[in-house]
Amino acid sequence: MNQEMPNLLKQRAELTPKRLAIKANNEEVTFEQLYKRVQQRATILSKHGIRENQHIAILMRNSVEMIETIHAVIALGAVAVMLNVRLSEQELAWQIDDVEAEYIICNREFQKNVKVYKTIVCEDLFIHHVEEILPSLSQVSFYHDKVATIMYTSGTTGNPKGVMQTYGNHWSSAISSALNLGLQVNDRWLLSVPLFHISGLSILMRSVIYGIGVVLHERFDAAKMNQAIMRDGVTIVSVVTTMLKQMIEQLEKERYPESFRCMLVGGGPVPEKYLLECQEKGIPVYQSYGMTETASQVVTLTPEDSLVKIGSAGKPLFLNQIKIMKNGQECQPNEEGEIFVKGPTITKGYWKKEEATNKAIKNGWLQTGDQGYVDEDGFLYVLDRRSDLIISGGENVYPAQIESVLLTHPNISDAGVIGVKDEKWGQSPHAFVVLKESVEIDEIRAFCQEKLAAYKVPKYYTIVDELPRNASNKLLRRKLKDLIKDNHDVEN
Ligand code: ATP
Ligand code: MG
Repeated sequence: MNQEMPNLLKQRAELTPKRLAIKANNEEVTFEQLYKRVQQRATILSKHGIRENQHIAILMRNSVEMIETIHAVIALGAVAVMLNVRLSEQELAWQIDDVEAEYIICNREFQKNVKVYKTIVCEDLFIHHVEEILPSLSQVSFYHDKVATIMYTSGTTGNPKGVMQTYGNHWSSAISSALNLGLQVNDRWLLSVPLFHISGLSILMRSVIYGIGVVLHERFDAAKMNQAIMRDGVTIVSVVTTMLKQMIEQLEKERYPESFRCMLVGGGPVPEKYLLECQEKGIPVYQSYGMTETASQVVTLTPEDSLVKIGSAGKPLFLNQIKIMKNGQECQPNEEGEIFVKGPTITKGYWKKEEATNKAIKNGWLQTGDQGYVDEDGFLYVLDRRSDLIISGGENVYPAQIESVLLTHPNISDAGVIGVKDEKWGQSPHAFVVLKESVEIDEIRAFCQEKLAAYKVPKYYTIVDELPRNASNKLLRRKLKDLIKDNHDVEN
């Protein structure tokens, strides 16, 4: 489907020039103004040497300038490579080398982290000084199959992989989401998740495709988010579970206005406790499942099902299909296996990793590496990463389930579980916990015994100061294995 597409921002600026594109702090930018600034920025970037098809890394904090930079790189026909600002110098170098970036456009504060590369400091680009727009900008073409962005996976299960996201992927993702959530002329989407993750970038794409405004926050702040919902006309918000938790805690007795219609939660399951609190407070929660490779959510649960199908991530979006596979066979309803996803939002592959691409995508089906099942009504339940599955006495044990039980203990602030070798059972769960207040291991064990089947109760416990997490704040269970190598053998 290598159909030509318009320059999305140009088209939007022509269709609805006066509509709000971005609201950030006290600044309001219309699509017409945004398009003009992007043209100016692209002209300056071209003077710095940026050309069509180059890979241009962007290392910036959420800001109007970052949005302009992403659009400007795209306007030049280059590929925007989104870098996580929380990566270490070494991790950045690994991704920049892997993707073969020509330039890095960064905020001044990050320049020191990428000093050996060709950098362009965003704060040094005086776009308002540009009077003449680069004429060749109008000749850049866009196609469904052309790569718009490269985004690295979080690196939770191994080295991050550069996911190539095409214009068609972003387009299809925005359309699928609109067919699911609906679209209203007065919609405003609150963007406080990072633009360098697909959760953030996909909001930007939707804003341009739908013609709706983005209310932009530099970082997550529960009080500010709630204020924005109350006062800035926000109708939709994207969050992860920990953000939702803080927002509902902070909300106390207040209620969001009627016009607020969607709290889209991704990245992991929402514990029942929060779902019930949301229901009490009249917050419409949409749980969702997706990944960098699927250009955002591919499965979503609507609020009317959220308390009927507790723990489910929902049903596939209009343009997507899902199936569960085990030993090369498609599973029956309620049978556990690996989740496969198909549809036009699936990446065309990992940058320069042909083998990994061919392994992950066959006949259009992406093998997600996640374990789950679909119930008799077609609802997906995501259980855990397949690589983290613990098999104890022939039973499947999911670390995520044990972790969520541990987290309900009042003295535990964080928890991670892995499988370790066990003479009798093959594998047993080993729990790592961070404590808020001291508590005996025996008490934690008794607590687990009350809430979990005997074979799921962790056999070993280690108290740690903190758990290893990556730049996306995801738990690195593979690093937990390293912590105990000395004590007993760990199953890989
Ligand atoms: P890597 O692929 O490098 O190991 P990653 O998979 O963590 O990193 P992302 O693309 O950021 O990188 O995350 C997608 C993953 O997040 C999914 O494959 C899944 O494991 C998890 N996830 C997303 N949504 C949900 C959900 N609703 N429930 C459970 N897990 C989820
Ligand atoms: Mg992944």
